[in-house]
Amino acid sequence: MFCQYDLKDIHDRARAAFLGMAIGDALGATVEFMTAPEIQAKYGVFKNIIGGGWLRLKPGQVTDDTEMALCIARAIVRSQGWSLEQVARNFADWLKSRPVDCGDTCRKGIRSYMLHGALEAAPNEWDAGNGAAMRILPVALFSLPDETLLKKYALEQAHLTHNNPVSDAACACLGKMIHLALCGESKKRLRREVDGLVARFPTFSFEPYHGLATGYVVDTLQTVFHFFFRGRDLEECVVGTINQGGDADTTGAICGMLAGAYYGMEGIPQRWLKKMDKKVVSEIETVTGRLVAASPLGRAS
Ligand code: MN
Ligand code: MN
Repeated sequence: MFCQYDLKDIHDRARAAFLGMAIGDALGATVEFMTAPEIQAKYGVFKNIIGGGWLRLKPGQVTDDTEMALCIARAIVRSQGWSLEQVARNFADWLKSRPVDCGDTCRKGIRSYMLHGALEAAPNEWDAGNGAAMRILPVALFSLPDETLLKKYALEQAHLTHNNPVSDAACACLGKMIHLALCGESKKRLRREVDGLVARFPTFSFEPYHGLATGYVVDTLQTVFHFFFRGRDLEECVVGTINQGGDADTTGAICGMLAGAYYGMEGIPQRWLKKMDKKVVSEIETVTGRLVAASPLGRAS
């Protein structure tokens, strides 16, 4: 059996995963594109949600990472099922709303949908940014605990903008790790997934960790893995990750979703939760409950 599940526990972890993602995004955005030494010189250890950064955010404001994940979540809730077309429409509406940030590959893919109705970007060996992996969480929740469904949704949503084998492998591995964490599996068990990924794509090896935290999905996941596996609680995992700088909102978002799924709500510092944008928190709580309830696991209970 995949998962000796306690649905209440899974709901708690799912909520923590989505909120953890938003928190990592809001926290990391302040130091996005800084280097680790620059962050250290300016803040010592950076660990409070204060906004600012190159996007001049309000404290607790989230960026494209959380917003695109919410686009996917809303599409599932609205369609009462999987509709890639609805995900694409939501991305398009979001892009038209002039978001605070949008990655180049994401923009290119969304434009191609808007202009040509394309639901799959052309395969591209350079499109191995972290833009598809960063928004994986809603499909991980909605597919619980079915790995085949997870892979289908994960790659379909990814290919709207990123059609690349390295990005695909990252999305599938991350999705599976989230499934396992939501079901209460150990870090040792999660680590086996990473070992499997590294066996297929040795470039993801993160030991020794080289300290690169760019938007290249390999650097991003190496950073997340390094700090997630050594961190003793959610705060330590996320703070370590974002203090590495680089694409810190996205590494923060990904580490936050993973650590949230792993540690659950009691792992999330209240001082962070209180600082978050209230509207975002309330929407996350609503959609998270609905995604889990609509998943195979939720429907079977
Ligand atoms: Mn962002
Ligand atoms: Mn980013």
